[in-house]
Amino acid sequence: MRHRFLLAVLVVLLVAGCGGGGGTPEATAPSSPPPSAPLPPEATPSPTRTVPPKPALRPLPAKLPAGLVRTTGTKKVALTFDDGPDPAWTPKVLDRLKAAKVTATFCVVGTQVRKHPGLLRRIVREGHQLCNHSWNHDLDLARRPVSEIRADLVRTNREIRRAVPDAKVPFYRQPGGRWTAEVVKVAKQLDMRSLHWTVDPQDWAKPTAATIEKRVKRSARPGAVVLLHDGGGNRSATLAACAKVISGLKRDHGVARLT
Ligand SMILES: [Zn+2]
Repeated sequence: MRHRFLLAVLVVLLVAGCGGGGGTPEATAPSSPPPSAPLPPEATPSPTRTVPPKPALRPLPAKLPAGLVRTTGTKKVALTFDDGPDPAWTPKVLDRLKAAKVTATFCVVGTQVRKHPGLLRRIVREGHQLCNHSWNHDLDLARRPVSEIRADLVRTNREIRRAVPDAKVPFYRQPGGRWTAEVVKVAKQLDMRSLHWTVDPQDWAKPTAATIEKRVKRSARPGAVVLLHDGGGNRSATLAACAKVISGLKRDHGVARLT
């Protein structure tokens, strides 16, 4: 009797619920998942940075720092060739220098020395001077922490001396001429003088050989340090200008090795 009564109550409740008219609270759909339900997946967080962010670059000074070598100290001018050694151009530049019986300073890049140690040996064998031009031509090197500057310069000199043991590297030249007092100081601590220039015909921007020649002739003064390139791109115009540039400088000023 009792069971039949309960069944009747249940039927009434179910009918009422299906009719949508005032169902019990339990019968309505829950508006939020029960606490035991798994939480919806969250957006995947970005991976945690394991390398600390690089320190900000120090600003470039408004003018060139003190302590740069910018002239030869005599009336004669000096030739400098940057960004090699390069197998396409350096041998030909060396041939031109040999033919003109002059020596130059080669500002070499560490990664190029690693690839072409034989060219570095030829540069030294033929009496030219070496200049450290950073490991990988880092235009911002002088703006980095001092420890990074030092590591770069030391690594480059080590590569130079792997090719030529006991090589003298009396100069450092900052890529792009973007000097800071800090890089000058580190170079000095490593027994290198910081070598800038006085004549820049911008041969890297690939003007014609005639333009390179004209620019050098126009701005060369006694004691000038002339910047040219034997690497870092197609140097056919520089090469084509070499013979006339060198003979003109020899005639007007004399060409000497930096001391
Ligand atoms: Zn350079």
